[in-house]
Amino acid sequence: MKKHYSLIVLLLLLCKISNAQIKSSNGFTFGNELFLNDQILANQDNAGGEQKILISPEKAAHYKVIESKMAAAANNVQQAMLVPSTGLDYDVKYYRLELRINPDTSIGKYIKGKVTIYFTTQSANFSVVNFDMATALASDSVYYHGVKLAAGNISRATANLIAITLPNIPTSGTLDSVSIFYKGVPPVTAGFSNGTGYVKSTHSTAPVRNYVYTLSEPYSSFSWWPCKSFIVNDKADSMDMIVSTPLGFKTAGNGNLVYEITSATEVRTYWKERYPISAYQVCTAVANYVQYPAVADTVIIGGTKMPYYNYLFPETNTAAAHTSLDRVKLMLTTYSSLYGDYPFKNEKYGNYTFGFGGGMEHNTFSGESSSGVYTAAGNWDILAHELAHQWWGASVTCASWHDIWVNESFADFSEALLLEFAPSIGTTAGNTALSWRASKKTNTLSATAQATYVTDTATILTIFTPSVYIYDRGGMIITMMRTLLGDTKFFQALKNYQSDPALKQGNAFTADVKRHMELASGLNLTTFFNQWIYNRGHANYAAAKWNNSAKTVIIQMGTQTTVSSGLTHFDMPVAVRIQGATPATMDTTIILYDQGGVFYYVNNGVLTPTSSNVGIYNLSFVPTTITFDAFSQVLATATFTKGTVLATDILTFTGNKEGTKANLNWTINDAADYTAFEVERSADGVSFEKIGTVKASDNSGRYDFLFTDYHILAGTGYYRIKVLYADGAFIYSKTVSINNKVDYYYTITPNPAKDFILISGSAAKGTADINIYDATGRMVKKLPKQTFDNSNSLKIAVKELGVGNYFVEIVRPDAEAYTKQIVIIH
Ligand SMILES: [Zn+2]
Repeated sequence: MKKHYSLIVLLLLLCKISNAQIKSSNGFTFGNELFLNDQILANQDNAGGEQKILISPEKAAHYKVIESKMAAAANNVQQAMLVPSTGLDYDVKYYRLELRINPDTSIGKYIKGKVTIYFTTQSANFSVVNFDMATALASDSVYYHGVKLAAGNISRATANLIAITLPNIPTSGTLDSVSIFYKGVPPVTAGFSNGTGYVKSTHSTAPVRNYVYTLSEPYSSFSWWPCKSFIVNDKADSMDMIVSTPLGFKTAGNGNLVYEITSATEVRTYWKERYPISAYQVCTAVANYVQYPAVADTVIIGGTKMPYYNYLFPETNTAAAHTSLDRVKLMLTTYSSLYGDYPFKNEKYGNYTFGFGGGMEHNTFSGESSSGVYTAAGNWDILAHELAHQWWGASVTCASWHDIWVNESFADFSEALLLEFAPSIGTTAGNTALSWRASKKTNTLSATAQATYVTDTATILTIFTPSVYIYDRGGMIITMMRTLLGDTKFFQALKNYQSDPALKQGNAFTADVKRHMELASGLNLTTFFNQWIYNRGHANYAAAKWNNSAKTVIIQMGTQTTVSSGLTHFDMPVAVRIQGATPATMDTTIILYDQGGVFYYVNNGVLTPTSSNVGIYNLSFVPTTITFDAFSQVLATATFTKGTVLATDILTFTGNKEGTKANLNWTINDAADYTAFEVERSADGVSFEKIGTVKASDNSGRYDFLFTDYHILAGTGYYRIKVLYADGAFIYSKTVSINNKVDYYYTITPNPAKDFILISGSAAKGTADINIYDATGRMVKKLPKQTFDNSNSLKIAVKELGVGNYFVEIVRPDAEAYTKQIVIIH
C-alpha cells in the first residue's frame, strides 16, 4: 500500500458516504439468484469433495513454521480486541466468493453474497468455527454438507463475528467446509478518511458514475465478506470470486479471468486465483471500466508468456495513461531479474483505477489512484511500489502486522532500485535513483519518533501513519544492508528469501529477513537488526578529518552520537567518497563498518579490522576531496575537513627480509603524540598477534622507527603497527607482507615413467599439493595435501595418464612452487 498525502483532502470528498442515503438493509434485486442454481459450483460444496484445491507440500511445511510462531502473533493488540480465544484453530484452504454488487443501487453501498470456506480443523473436539464478519452484515443462512443449519447453530453474539456450531465434530486435519449467505451495508471501518473496507464512490462528471471498490489492508476484509480477517499468516491456498453486476459494469479481481458473461440482465465475472492469498489481498472493484490494452499485452517472465492489462475509467483511458502504464512491462522484467520471476506468472499482472489516494497491491491486480497515476510522467513510484509488493507483500507476506516493514520497506526500497536498473522509468519525472534515495534519507532524518518495527498494531492508522518509519526509514535500512553486504551477497540474499520454500507464497517475520541476510553474508546482524529495526532514531558523526601523504589517504571518523534514540550507538556502515583532481577517473568510495565505535574495512561483506576510527588507504591517485555518504546510502550525517590532527600519523611503513630476520621501518611526524608502537604479526593477514613493543620515548625527537623480527614466519608473514596514543586511543598502520619462501629441489623417478612416479627431495617432511599438467598446460591430476614419508618421498600413480610429456608441480606454503617435466610411456 502506498498513500499519497497530497490527495487526502480529495479522498475525503470522493469517499464520503452519507448515512442519510442508507434507507434500508434490504437487498436490491435483479436477475436470477446466482447462488444455489449454479451447478458447476454447487457440485463442489460437499465437505471433502473438493480435491482440486491446490495445497502444495511446501505450503504444508510452511504452516508448521507459521503455526509455531502463532503465539507471538497472538499478542497483536487488534487480535486481542477482535479475535476470540477459541474457534480459530483451523487452517483456511480455500475461499469462494459469489457476490452481487450494484454500484447504482439507491440504498447507498450494499453487498449480497455467498462465501464458501474450506478449512481443516487443527485440534480435537473442535466444533465451533468462527469467522470475522461485520455485525452490519446479516446472514440469511449457513449451509453445511449441503444442508441448511438450524438457526441455533448460528451465533452473532460477539460483535463482528459469526460463530458456526457444526452438527458434528470434524476429524482434526480433514478438509471441511461451510457456505455463508449474507447481505447488508458494509460498515465504515476505521481508516483513511472513511475510505477503507468496501467503498462506494463516484467518478467522471458528465455523467457522474458510481463505482465500488475494496481496500482491506490490514483489518477491513471482515467488513464486506466473512473470512479469517485478522490473522494475516493463514493464507488460503486458492480462491475463486464470481461477481454479478448490472449491465454496463466491469469487475476487477485476483488471478485469471475465467469468464465475463453478459446476459440480457447482468454481467457475471469469474476470477480464479490459484496462488495462496491472504484475506486482505482479496479485492474487487466494479466500475464502467475499459481495458487497456484492449487486447492484453504479453510479457515474458522466465520463459512464460503472461498477460498484462489494466482496467481504466473511460476518462482516464488516455494517451498519457498509456505511456505511464506501458512502463510497467519494463518494471516487471526488471524486478524479475532482481528478485526472481514475478511470483504470479501463470496468471497475470495489471492495475485498475480505484478511489484510494495512492495504490494498493493485491495478488496479480493492483488498485491505483484515479488522480496522478495516469499522467504521462506518471506517479511511476506508485506503479513501481505496488508491483514490487507482488514479491514483497503478496507472495511473501508479513507474518504479523508488527512486521509490516517486510512488505512496505522493501516496496519503498524497490522504487529507487528500479531507477538504478531501469533509469528510463524516472526520466520523464526527472528522478534518478540517487535523487530518490536522497529524498528518502532527508525524510527519515527529520522523523525520529518511532521504530521501523511497529509496536502498536491496534488500527490501520497506528500501523501505516506516520508512514515514514515503515516506508522511507525501512527502505534506507535495507540500503544500509546492501552497503554492508555488497551487491553480490545482498541480491543473493533477496533471491534466496524470495525462493525460500518456507516463505514463498507464504509469510515472513523480521527474523526471516535477518536469517537470509546473515546466510548470504556470513555476518552476525543481531545487533544491527536490534538497533535499526526495533529502535528509533539515527546517527551523527562529529567532524571527520582526513589528510594525505601523496597517494596515501588517512581518514578519521569523528565520534558517533545518536539522534532521538534510546541507544547510545548504532552499528552501521559509513560510506566515504574519495576523489582526485580529475574526478572522472579519480573516484572511489570506501565503506567502513562502525561496530561499537570500532571501524572495519568492508569489502563486499568481508570485514577487516582496522583502527578504532582511522583508516589508511593507498590510492592510485592523490586525493583532493572527501565526501561523507555522497550517494545517500546510510542514515547518518558527517562532514569531512582536511585537518592537521592527522599530520602526525604514520607516513610510511615498510618491511624487508634480511637473511632469517625481518626489518620493519616506519616514519611519523612527531613521536611526542604517542606512547608506544606495538608490532603485530600474522600468518594469514587476518589474525594478528603482538610480537613486540617500541616505546615512543625510546626515540624521542626522531621520526623513524625500526623493529627487527628474529623469528620470521615460513612462507608469507604479515605485519602491522598499532600506534598507541596517550589517551588510550590507537590506530593501525597499513599491513605489509614479507615473502620468506624457500627453494626446494626434487628428483622424480623413473623418468620416463609407466605406472607411477616417486618424488623425493630436500624439503623437510610435510605436505604439498601435487598438480600435473599436460603439454598444453591443462591440469590433468590434482592431489591436495599429499604427505611425504619418512624418507621424504612421495609415490604418485600416473597409470591413467596417456603417453606424452607432462609437468609435475609441487606446491608448499613455505616454498616457491617447483615444476619438473616428465615423460610417460606405456
Ligand atoms: Zn506499500
